[in-house]
Order: sequence, then structure tokens, then C-alpha cells
Amino acid sequence: MTQKLRPGDMIGVLGSGQLGRMIAMAAARLGLRTHIYCPDPGPAFDVCAQFTVAAYDDEEALAAFADSVGVVSYEFENVPAKTAAFLAARRPVRPGARALATSQDRFAEKTFLNGIGVATAPFAAVDSIDDLRAAVEQLGRPSILKTRRMGYDGKGQILIRETQDLGEAFQAVGCAPSILEGFVPFAREVSVIGARGLDGSFAAYDVCENEHEDHILAHTMVPARVSEAAALAATDMAGHIAAELDYVGVITVEMFLVEDGMEQRIVVNEIAPRVHNSGHWTLDGAVTSQFEQHVRAICGWPLGSPRRHGRIEMRNLIGAQGNDWERLLSQPGLCLHLYGKHEARPRRKMGHWTKVTPEG
Ligand code: AMP
Repeated sequence: MTQKLRPGDMIGVLGSGQLGRMIAMAAARLGLRTHIYCPDPGPAFDVCAQFTVAAYDDEEALAAFADSVGVVSYEFENVPAKTAAFLAARRPVRPGARALATSQDRFAEKTFLNGIGVATAPFAAVDSIDDLRAAVEQLGRPSILKTRRMGYDGKGQILIRETQDLGEAFQAVGCAPSILEGFVPFAREVSVIGARGLDGSFAAYDVCENEHEDHILAHTMVPARVSEAAALAATDMAGHIAAELDYVGVITVEMFLVEDGMEQRIVVNEIAPRVHNSGHWTLDGAVTSQFEQHVRAICGWPLGSPRRHGRIEMRNLIGAQGNDWERLLSQPGLCLHLYGKHEARPRRKMGHWTKVTPEG
């Protein structure tokens, strides 16, 4: 199996959304071609050399896809384990099965993190209403009930307040295998986006500070308002997690910053084994974008510099905000990115803009 790709080779990406689109565009800049595989056509199809529309369990289509590429990656963490295993028997899948299995299940993820000495919210497995009662007894209120699998953008989770009926809460997550998490009284939400190369090298961007609206990322600022010590601890944690997962590619670690008086502490919320919305600013604001960095890593190439060009502000355009494109284009200094989605449905990520202010 080839470990390293060469310019002119094809990379494979599962998923046809904006992340796949921006990976394909970065790959093209480095002389690579991209084959996108997805059950549904999406914005990545507009910019790739080849695409396949087929189900993730269509072994004939998966085999043909694998034959056409030198490496397989993905833009979302819920790639079915069977699909990943089928592809991995034919081509390197980067990041690998361990990263996928760990990040797909919140219980496995937190158990792994605590096992390597990384702090998370306190948690307990919940498989029944009796488990939920015992977990709330143990972790108190407020706490958060989350499905173990398939939750994103606030889906599959419910805040257990003082007055919340537990039977209704368990119903609200579909009585699915879940975890209860103790509530972390965080001051800010931050993320570390790093990359680990095939040779074990690691490079991280400066810590990003993220604000969510209605559970969707709205705004990222870099540098984050964190102490130097907390920033260093956060970055070291991301490197440690990547090394323990024997990771290849861009990894995102979402974290809570907790302030105890003058002390700042980092608590990890979750791992995304992929490029991330809070790293979109790197397209305009860093020497190497997260998308290029991911391509470099999965191709077995040297990592690029993550150095920032200045102070960063990134805003997502969600739903109807995307209709504002013409006004945004006329703002000097804004770098606008539109994902080519035709319909501005509510909660849909239509694009983003970045403003880079050079630092004195
Ligand atoms: P998640 O789906 O785990 O990323 O959670 C979505 C959002 O819910 C996070 O970005 C936080 O704003 C909030 N949240 C999740 N878990 C906790 C927690 N244990 N304590 C406090 N807030 C949380």
C-alpha cells in the first residue's frame, strides 16, 4: 500500500458538504485531484475531479472508489465502521479506525480521554430510566443528557434543569443509549485545531475562541482570551490525544475554559476527527489552511506552518444570512466564502467571512 502520494494523484473523500469542498479546493492547489463519495450530491461535487453517488454500504461502488484513489479521508465523523473497514482493506484510511470509533461514541470518547489523563466533564452511562435517575443523583442538576452517538449542533441532547421530568428527558433523546454529563460552568468555549503527520510530527494553530448561537457555531476569534499557560496546556492536550490515537490528518479538540479565581483550567468537550468550522479562518488568516494541512498529512507530506497573519474574526452565514452576500462583498477587508448551496434553509451553513487585522 502506498504511504505517500504524489502531485497528480487522487485523494478520496467521503461526504459532499462544504468541508469536502474546501478539502478538494486545497488539494487542487497542490496538484492533487479529489474523488468525492456520498449518497447525496452536495457542494463538494462542483469542485472535484470525480464523484460517486452511492450508499455507504454499496460494496461495488466502494471498491471502485477505493481503486481510483491513493488515500481515503472523510469530512464527517459518523462514517459507518463497516464502510471504513471495507475501504481500509484496500487503501489507507486517514484518520484511522481508532479515531473514528473513539469520536463516534461519547462514552468511549470520554473514557479514552480520562484514561490518557485528559479532563472531561464527569459522566455516567445511561441505558435506561433507572440509570438516568441514578446518574442525576450522582452528578446533580443542571446536567446534560446526550445520546452516545449521532448528536451534533445540539441535536440528541437535553439540559436537565431543576424542574425537568426525567421520564420526559429520556423520551426526548429517543430512549437511546446515552450519557449524562455534569454541567461545566465554563467561561468560554475554545478549540484547538492541530495536525499530525504520517511521521508523527504535530503542528497546531493558535487556540480559537468560539461562540455558538442556537447550538451552531456563529463566531470564532483568534487568539482566544486564554492565559499563555492555558493555551499551552490546551495545545499539548491536542498533541497528546493525536499521538495516543496514532492519528494522521487534522484533528479538532473542542474544549471548555473554566476560570477558578485567577486560574484557568481546560476541560475537553469532544474530539472531531476532521477539519472544523472553527478553523475556516485559516483559509485567509494562516500560512497553511486547515484544509491544505489535512491534505498534506493524509498524503504523507510535510506539514505546513500554522502561523497566523494577524488577529482573526470569522463569522458563519447561517440560513438567510447567506442572502447578504452582495453587501458583504462590498465591505473592504472581508474575505467572503460561499458554499454554492442554492436554498438558504434555516440553520443551514451557507458560507462564512473572515477578517484578518495585522498585529502591530
Ligand atoms: P456538544 O454537542 O457536546 O458539542 O454540546 C453542544 C453545546 O452544549 C456545547 O458547545 C456547550 O455550549 C454545551 N455543553 C455541552 N456539554 C456541556 C457540559 N457538560 N456543560 C456545559 N455545557 C455543555
